Amino acid sequence: MKRQDIRNVAIIAHVDHGKTTLVDQMLKQSGTFRSNEFVEERVMDSNDLERERGITILSKNTSVMYGDVKINIIDTPGHADFGGEVERIMKMVDGVLLLVDAKEGPMPQTRFVLQKALKEGLKPIVVVNKIDRTDARVEEVIDEVLDLFIALEADDDQLDFAAVYASAKDGLAKLNQEDEATDLRPLFEEILKQIPCPEGDSEAGLQLLISNIDYDKYIGRIGIGKIIRGTVKKNQMAVLASTKGQNLNVKISNLYSFQGLGRRDIEAATVGEIVAISGIADINIGDTICSVDDVEAVPFVKIDEPTIS
Ligand code: GDP
Repeated sequence: MKRQDIRNVAIIAHVDHGKTTLVDQMLKQSGTFRSNEFVEERVMDSNDLERERGITILSKNTSVMYGDVKINIIDTPGHADFGGEVERIMKMVDGVLLLVDAKEGPMPQTRFVLQKALKEGLKPIVVVNKIDRTDARVEEVIDEVLDLFIALEADDDQLDFAAVYASAKDGLAKLNQEDEATDLRPLFEEILKQIPCPEGDSEAGLQLLISNIDYDKYIGRIGIGKIIRGTVKKNQMAVLASTKGQNLNVKISNLYSFQGLGRRDIEAATVGEIVAISGIADINIGDTICSVDDVEAVPFVKIDEPTIS
C-alpha cells in the first residue's frame, strides 16, 4: 500500500537559518490550501495562541496539511551530541528539507545532519531561505551546497537535488529566481513531488518501530515511531519486542497522531503514519510494537552515541 496521503520529512538547518519561521508559515498557510471536502478538527487552541504570539519553540513533530496530504515534519537536532537521535529520525522519514540561509550558506550543523541524511540514502530538497535579504548571495550558496554534497559523497541522484528559493519571513517560495512568489505553494508542491510516499503492507502483522521517546507529565512516557507495516488500534493488546530480546504483553491505551504542533487522539492508524502511543511504562527507543499473533521485531541497529567529552 502506497500512502499517497502522507509525506514524512525531516527538517535540517543550522541554528537561526529560519526553521521555526518556515514551519510556522507552513502551518499558517496550510489551512488556505485545504480542499473543501477535507474537514478535520482544528489544531489545538493552545497552538492557535502560540501562533498569534509567534512560535518560539518548534515541536519535535509537527504536521501540516496540504490539500488532502498530511506532511509530518520531524525537527532534527543539529548538534553532534544528538548523533544517535538524528540517525533514528533519518530512518523514520522518506526525505529531508535542507534549509540554508541565503547569506550565510551551509554551516557546521548543516553539514553534520546532511551527512547522516545522505548516508541513509535520502534525497534532500534544498531550501535557500531569506532571499529577501539585501545581502543574499543565492547563486554562491547553491554552489556551496553542491560542493558540500560532493564533499559528503552524495550519489548522482542526491546531487540532482531540487532547489527552492524562499523567504520564510514573508511566507514565499519559488522554484526559479526570476519567478514571482506569492505564497509557499511551490514548496508544498515540491515536497509532494520529490519526497516518496511511505509504503508498506497494511494487512500484515503490526510493526511499529519506536524511534523517539517523549514525556508528558499527565500521560507519562510516550513512544513515537513509524508504522512499518500493519495497523494499530487504540486499546488493542500488543507485544512489545524489546531490543534486549524480551517480549512483553502490553495494551495501547492511547494512540495519537500529530496535528499542527499538537497531538490528537485517534482510534487507529495504518502503515506509513508516524504515531505516538502512551500507557507503556517500559517503552524504549528501538523497541517494536507487534501484533500479538505475529511478533517480529525490526532488527535493532546499534547506533554509536558519541561520547561527550
Ligand atoms: P531557527 O533557529 O532555524 O528556528 O530560526 P528562526 O526561525 O528562529 O529564525 C532566526 C532569525 O531569522 C529570526 O530573527 C527570523 O525572524 C529570521 N528569519 C527567518 N526567516 C527569514 C527570512 O526569510 N528572511 C529574513 N530576512 N529573516 C528571516
